[in-house]
Amino acid sequence: MQFTNDKQQPINNAETPYYQPIGNEVEVFYKAWENKIPLLLKGPTGTGKSRFVEFIAQKLGKKLITVSCHEETSSTDLIGRFIIKGSETVWIDGPMTRAAREGRILYLDEVAEARPDVVVAIHALTDHRRELFIDKLGESFRAHPDFMLVASFNPGYQKGFKELKPSTRQRFIAISFHYPEEKVEIEIIANESGVGKDVAKKLVAIGQKIRNLTELGLTETVSTRLLIDAGKLIRSGLPPRLSLHVAVVEPLTDDEDTISALKDLCNLMI
Ligand code: ADP
Repeated sequence: MQFTNDKQQPINNAETPYYQPIGNEVEVFYKAWENKIPLLLKGPTGTGKSRFVEFIAQKLGKKLITVSCHEETSSTDLIGRFIIKGSETVWIDGPMTRAAREGRILYLDEVAEARPDVVVAIHALTDHRRELFIDKLGESFRAHPDFMLVASFNPGYQKGFKELKPSTRQRFIAISFHYPEEKVEIEIIANESGVGKDVAKKLVAIGQKIRNLTELGLTETVSTRLLIDAGKLIRSGLPPRLSLHVAVVEPLTDDEDTISALKDLCNLMI
């Protein structure tokens, strides 16, 4: 990996999380950072989006604030709230306000899951004014020059996933994350789980086979994360077939026929 810009000197220390680039995402992030353009990471779960953001933040020497969004996440959770402390009411900044004031990278994981009012807060921060309005304080302020917004979302390529409105999407530049190609995924699994390359290779082959079985109608298919978990169990001494069963087959489906089909496939391949 090369970093040409002085301001982008890589910071290598023991705390830098392991991240194996899968395309040109590192370069794109640096340029987005230079310009402070909000960045959207699209892709199924377990494809390394969160790990990527942790890695880049560490490389840039920037503090990262991560919020895992869910159906109940509201703008109050992100912006802040009054709390009662003894006989006083005090204001507590939420993670978005803190990130904007202090110039942090704010990562809103699974942003589409959050309540619609979160989007309103994002809109104000992602236009050219980069302002955050705190309605409860009647105050607005301009984000610190180092503030950057990164969000992730799981595109609705299958039923059950929430969509992001076009007016929100168009405030971000976007990168798609996919399952890595074979060589890279073997590398990741071996590194993260501690199994040898030979076992990692088998796990990747199983992963690829399952990903191609579209006729099974799985809501989501096997992620790198699940294959890593299988690798960790094998590394700890659990028999390989049982490891695959509990780390890959059972998490993917509850349907008895599908479980049996996946089990047969795994047993055949390991
Ligand atoms: P996402 O945020 O897309 O759901 P994560 O970043 O949490 O996925 O990735 C899940 C796990 O998979 C990580 O903890 C890491 O162990 C592994 N992983 C996936 N992709 C990569 C990669 N490119 N480099 C290193 N580790 C990866």
